[in-house]
Amino acid sequence: MPVVSLSRPCPACARTTEHRHRFRINGCDILQCGQCGLGRTETAGFDPAAYYTEDYFSGGHADGYSDYLGAEPVLRREFARSVEFIRGYRKGGKLLELGCAYGFFLQEAARHFDVTGIELSAEAADHGRRAGVNVLTGMADAATLRQIGHVDVIVLFDVAEHLPEPRETLALCQEHLNPGGIIVITTGDFGSAVARLAGARWRLMTPPQHLWFFTVDSMRRMSAGLGLTVEHVDHPWKIVPASLIAFQLRRMLGLRAAGSARASRIGVPVNLFDAMRIVLRKAP
Ligand SMILES: [Zn+2]
Repeated sequence: MPVVSLSRPCPACARTTEHRHRFRINGCDILQCGQCGLGRTETAGFDPAAYYTEDYFSGGHADGYSDYLGAEPVLRREFARSVEFIRGYRKGGKLLELGCAYGFFLQEAARHFDVTGIELSAEAADHGRRAGVNVLTGMADAATLRQIGHVDVIVLFDVAEHLPEPRETLALCQEHLNPGGIIVITTGDFGSAVARLAGARWRLMTPPQHLWFFTVDSMRRMSAGLGLTVEHVDHPWKIVPASLIAFQLRRMLGLRAAGSARASRIGVPVNLFDAMRIVLRKAP
């Protein structure tokens, strides 16, 4: 085998590190930082705007959401629990969600917080606005965040792994946080036992949709480098729509997707301990 240099700039370590080639899937190479364990998708010409369409949320992509709208009651119940979790750190104030999809979480959070969302999918953003929440369509870039101003809570639920430049986005979040404010992130844990055992078949190993595969260590390094303190890390139980479980199982087994409206309305508690939830705080 020829020896090729796998030096890459690691956004978590904030320097160039040696990477290991883990596998190739969906036409993408998956590399992993030898220092912090952060996995990265190497792909050319991936266009998020063309990818996150209505089709993505209704199961049109093999790695997208199956019937997200049909699962609203189940998702809303889960999001209400997330709001209570967040209130353990911050009782109220201004809350911003990056990648708010149809705005289900924001509708729950609006009971306690003054909420705003940013969403790339125009169709999903419209849905949120029709439901009465303040949603800006676009990317979470400097211009969009400037419009919103400073907030007390920023939420990124299963979004960090999609960001082209996660360190830059987290730095922007830090800038737009009031002193003592928090950032709540959920993402897969590439260092978990399930991820390590499943390898290329891990349920969250879905490049180019997922561009990054974080570990607890990579999250800690990236946060520390941006002046954010890690207050909490856990691998929480989640109530998910039965249809999503069926969808992911079928994908893993190479079967074709089959929708079931009834399965969207049934919530099932799940924990593979391969997804983490992190609370970061900016110094008061
Ligand atoms: Zn690294």
